[in-house]
Amino acid sequence: MTPAQDIIVAIDGFASCGKSSLAKSLARALNYRHIDTGAMYRAVTWYFLENHVEWRHQAKREDALDRISITFQNHNQLNHTLLNGVDVETVIRSAAVNQEVSEISVFGDVREKVVALQRVMGKDKRIVMEGRDIGTVVFPDAELKIFLTASLEVRTDRRYQELILKGVLTTREEVQENLLKRDYIDSHREISPLRKAQDAWEIDNSELTILDQQALIVKRIREVWGMAEHV
Ligand code: C5P
Repeated sequence: MTPAQDIIVAIDGFASCGKSSLAKSLARALNYRHIDTGAMYRAVTWYFLENHVEWRHQAKREDALDRISITFQNHNQLNHTLLNGVDVETVIRSAAVNQEVSEISVFGDVREKVVALQRVMGKDKRIVMEGRDIGTVVFPDAELKIFLTASLEVRTDRRYQELILKGVLTTREEVQENLLKRDYIDSHREISPLRKAQDAWEIDNSELTILDQQALIVKRIREVWGMAEHV
């Protein structure tokens, strides 16, 4: 099934509140493209770290940004982030990137570059895009805006379990500290801070499964924009 009218679904929210899992599943259900914009800021961060770019220095940062290309490739229904053509999907989730990404995402030049790419990706709509500023800045006219929340305990548990399953050595305290630090920087930065768009639909998913959330959203889309079942 796919919406009868082409739309943009914008999903924003704090760190680890399940945006990616929901966006991925929803995009699959709607036959839409899924774009994880956090992966793009992570790819920029990875490039800076790998190439020892002195990113606090504006000219050096801008020069490095000119050398970066970010694209996505679909492998077995999973999106892989490519940085200058190389698959960086795993390394951009590393602790080193987690530590720096929010500090790098505050710069206007970084955001300008990444937002321009996102707008191109969404120009034909039919997209589920998730991040921090999608409904407020990237696509302020998105048809459907969702602001996802979950309790801090639930978010910490989810991220901790995810890291442990990946074999990352960490503690629950460390994970929570990083979430809080990123949330603080993301919601207090000058340019495009994380906040709920006035017309966003807030969903607290602390006690909802992905399928519960998806069912709620698909119902709303069907009611407002219609659904073409056979597309
Ligand atoms: O979504 P994820 O946790 O992977 O995002 C990593 C970081 O990228 C966020 O903490 C935030 O600093 C930055 N980001 C952003 N704007 C977005 C998406 C992510 O500033 N639209």
